[in-house]
Amino acid sequence: MRQFILRVAIDTPLDFYFDYRWVAESDETAIPQIGQLALVPFGQRKVMGLIMAILDETDVPDEKLRDVIAVRDEVFPVSSEWAALCHFAADYYQRPLGEVALPSLPKKLRAEKTVALNRALKATEKRGKKDAGEKEIPDVAPDLNAGQKEAVSDIVAAEGFSPILLHGVTGSGKTEVYLHVFETVLKRQPDTVVMILVPEINLTPQLESNIRSRFPDTDIAVLHSQLSEGERLRNWLAAHTGKARILLGTRMAILASAPRLDLIIVDEEHDPSYKQQEGLRYSARDLAVWRAWQLDIPVVLGSATPSLETWQHAESGRYRKLVLPERAMADAELPKVRLIDTGRNKLQDGFSPALLEALKVRLERGEQSLLFLNRRGYAPVLTCEACGWVSACKRCTAYMVLHKPQRRLRCHHCSMELYIPRSCPTCGYVDLKPFGRGTQRIEESLQTHFPDARILRIDADSTRKKGSMQEALETVHRGDADILVGTQMIAKGHDFRNLTLVGVMNPDNALFSHDYRASERLFAQLMQVGGRAGRRAMDEATDSEVIIQTRYPHHPLYQAVLQHNYDGFASELLQERQLSGLPPFIYQALLCAEARQLDTALAFLKTAAEAADYPGIIVNDPVPMAMTRIGDIERAQLLVESVSRADMQQFLKGWMTTLRSLKTRARWHIEVDPASI
Ligand code: ADP
Ligand code: ZN
Ligand code: ZN
Repeated sequence: MRQFILRVAIDTPLDFYFDYRWVAESDETAIPQIGQLALVPFGQRKVMGLIMAILDETDVPDEKLRDVIAVRDEVFPVSSEWAALCHFAADYYQRPLGEVALPSLPKKLRAEKTVALNRALKATEKRGKKDAGEKEIPDVAPDLNAGQKEAVSDIVAAEGFSPILLHGVTGSGKTEVYLHVFETVLKRQPDTVVMILVPEINLTPQLESNIRSRFPDTDIAVLHSQLSEGERLRNWLAAHTGKARILLGTRMAILASAPRLDLIIVDEEHDPSYKQQEGLRYSARDLAVWRAWQLDIPVVLGSATPSLETWQHAESGRYRKLVLPERAMADAELPKVRLIDTGRNKLQDGFSPALLEALKVRLERGEQSLLFLNRRGYAPVLTCEACGWVSACKRCTAYMVLHKPQRRLRCHHCSMELYIPRSCPTCGYVDLKPFGRGTQRIEESLQTHFPDARILRIDADSTRKKGSMQEALETVHRGDADILVGTQMIAKGHDFRNLTLVGVMNPDNALFSHDYRASERLFAQLMQVGGRAGRRAMDEATDSEVIIQTRYPHHPLYQAVLQHNYDGFASELLQERQLSGLPPFIYQALLCAEARQLDTALAFLKTAAEAADYPGIIVNDPVPMAMTRIGDIERAQLLVESVSRADMQQFLKGWMTTLRSLKTRARWHIEVDPASI
């Protein structure tokens, strides 16, 4: 009787593999293969594990060794490259392999009950033919301009591992470059696959329909977190089998199993959404570069405002830099930026006279405007003028935000909700006042200023229902909205043809943030949101404009935005970072601890800090986080740093073993290359 030991990875926090006995049912039974899934008993449960090795013997004593329940042999095994990618991610981000590999497989594949996988596959075919969403791009490719042509030919000529930064201003036609590159790469060989990542789910339908209309006969797999489990399985299989030759998705797509990957594109590579903020805290951009290195293929990082990490690599020559300095469409130009000094210009309901006038002009001309404000709700806080009471959340270090349409106070961190109090809870004063402005309040004021305007608010509240975001975007594209009021959701990527004015209501807060990345982010946000304006050919009567209301018009950040001067601003920021020893000149890891009592979290971090004695590692003091309490849980952090990535990785490995052995009531996790500290 044939019998083997299967060593499998399981989705648990335990950082080792598990051995099981496999016995052939009959002579015909196929022998399991590495990379297949196996259903195994685990405690009281049955779980799906990934076969990592097939052995003849094991150290597990016979009486403890349990039998494999079934091997899922109708799906062919994941490749060793894919397993290596998961290994790398697991090692680098300090998680067990099982916690990386298994969750990145569709639930239906991991489910105990098998589904008919072939029938699934058929459905992909049908769906592939259907056109999704609206067409934004002509079916026929436009003639590329000289810059685009050069970029395309440079990218398709790249051989082996070649990281390329495509630095193209907003509207420079980066998408068109990608599509042309796909065309060449897919034609070159009949079975190669290309992958493109976008930062936001909301950007996938537009890109998907662009790709489908340009490649009507090519199979496409779309991977993001809002797919139903059935869709996820279909798309995953299409990628896994190599049937889909174009893979499109958000950050999770970087962990897709895909044979013969020949090119990876990361669009808007600077975007913070590429960083996963829970579980495996990975950067999809960084994994894309690693995967390209592993497969020895080109990777293109596209952005109008590259991250400083990427910029630094481009400046030092590690990454090639391709530049698209101008907008693609004939006569389309970057919008003029106007800074309105709110110290000198009295605001009315948050609006300067200049902004109101500019909105009026757009309405008269039948053009669209976008008002950007990164704060949803009606007002960030409710206050009592009589006694100074503020609507603080009892469970968090945060204010409860006033949501007027729902007549509620809501905490955006623990989702606690209260009715708006009729009078001050402390002194009984009845005239409580909203303080500051959110998108709802801006919408309300706009309506009084422009009663006939069609105003559309787009933020997390207005787009809660599935499909409502796409509906809103279609309203904009159809021209059925005059003024959009939105948060960063609407600020990036979208190609609104009739939009000629962007107003930035109140961006100053980020200038004084404790987070050293805040100014990099604000700069990128302003360039991106400004980039939504003037994306089509302008005739003489029309001009596009970005109006920024600020109390600090002379601040270097705004001056750089005024001049569309990414290069200058980036090099200034990099100098600052170098002087203060911040990334990308240093590597960081953040140990975060949470507990009911702050002291519990701090005590754990203190012990952890004492155990962190390693050459080349700087250990900072444990401190409470800036937002110390969320949902009655106290949070603290410990930052460790090193100028050497290798030292950091070596250190973390040993440190994690120590940390796992520490007894504490605190919950903790480690974040490598944290997005903010
Ligand atoms: P980016 O991603 O760089 O911000 P897009 O790819 O969205 O820019 O392109 C901006 C607009 O220019 C789109 O409407 C696109 O259809 C158009 N466009 C791109 N390339 C060309 C070209 N060569 N000729 C004419 N229009 C173009
Ligand atoms: Zn009061
Ligand atoms: Zn709260």
